Amino acid sequence: MTKTEPDDDRILSPHPGLSESEVEQSLRPRDFNEFVGQPRITQNLAIYIEAARQRGDALDHVLFTGLPGLGKTTLSTIISREMETNLKFTAGPILERPADLAGQLTNLRHGDCLFIDEIHRVPASVQEYLHTAMEDFSIDIVYDSGPSARSVRLKLERFTLIGATTREGLLKAPFRNRFPILEKLEPYGLQDLTSIVNRSARILEAPIAESAAEMIASRSRGTPRIANRIIRRLRDVAQIQGDGLLDESIAQTGFEMLGIDDQGCDATDRRILEALLQHEGGPLGLKTVAVMVGESPDTIEEVHEPYLIQCGFLKRTPQGRMATDRARRHLGHPSNPQTGLFQP
Ligand code: ADP
Repeated sequence: MTKTEPDDDRILSPHPGLSESEVEQSLRPRDFNEFVGQPRITQNLAIYIEAARQRGDALDHVLFTGLPGLGKTTLSTIISREMETNLKFTAGPILERPADLAGQLTNLRHGDCLFIDEIHRVPASVQEYLHTAMEDFSIDIVYDSGPSARSVRLKLERFTLIGATTREGLLKAPFRNRFPILEKLEPYGLQDLTSIVNRSARILEAPIAESAAEMIASRSRGTPRIANRIIRRLRDVAQIQGDGLLDESIAQTGFEMLGIDDQGCDATDRRILEALLQHEGGPLGLKTVAVMVGESPDTIEEVHEPYLIQCGFLKRTPQGRMATDRARRHLGHPSNPQTGLFQP
């Protein structure tokens, strides 16, 4: 499956009739100037892009790592725009066999970018198939099957593979090492997130008070995608329950409706902590926690745990996950005065 970007006119002119994904597209920064924060990464990329363009070469392969919603896809779209090349989208889970990739690779023109989301989910056999494509810009196509199977080597145009992953550690080392450009996106600070909230409010034509913008930023877990999701919901609340202005009291009402607390934790985060606190703070294995809160272990590990650890609410120990004293205080659990252990 290949996705292509919507055309630029629709990105430029959002209006109330747009679908969810079109609204998301309208908020996506289109160049490095619009991309807030991560200055080291954008400066590096701008230099690599300019150098490749001057040489008339394709950009070297790029691997973006970092939590979901930090801007990996956005940076990839900016790269292809700056390189003035096409960008084709695919994702690890749908690349089951080398044949799933062959068609896409042979269709790439000089300098085109192939973006593989969740690249850690590309099976080992497909990763290996990509080795020669990435290094020698050629692939073997096997035709016929069984004893009469034969293969032919096809030359590819020089292209740029852009991989995005939330789990760098799951990539096989020989594969990871084939990406000359490796950039890790970190969660955004309050100032950058406030700028992102104000920018999105401007695009969505939602008037917002500075104090509300800061409040949204502080509860967005350092993640632009979450900030954008919140602002769209709070815009609805401002429209229906207020006079359209997204101020602090509208934001407060909206956060209660969304179940997001003053630390930016949502209902699932709190269920994870509650599950641990009900067992004297842990330790509990990941799978046990997952069953107790009804979420997949992957979602807990990739989405919830990093933030709970960052807040100082959860610790990973060799014995399992543990809730901290800080989590106990946050959820209002008293500690047991005799044992010092958590009381359910
Ligand atoms: P990822 O690919 O890492 O999951 P995306 O690139 O899809 O994240 O980003 C999610 C959304 O967050 C984008 O649609 C964009 O609107 C917004 N976003 C991400 N990074 C930034 C940024 N640095 N500045 C402004 N908006 C951003």
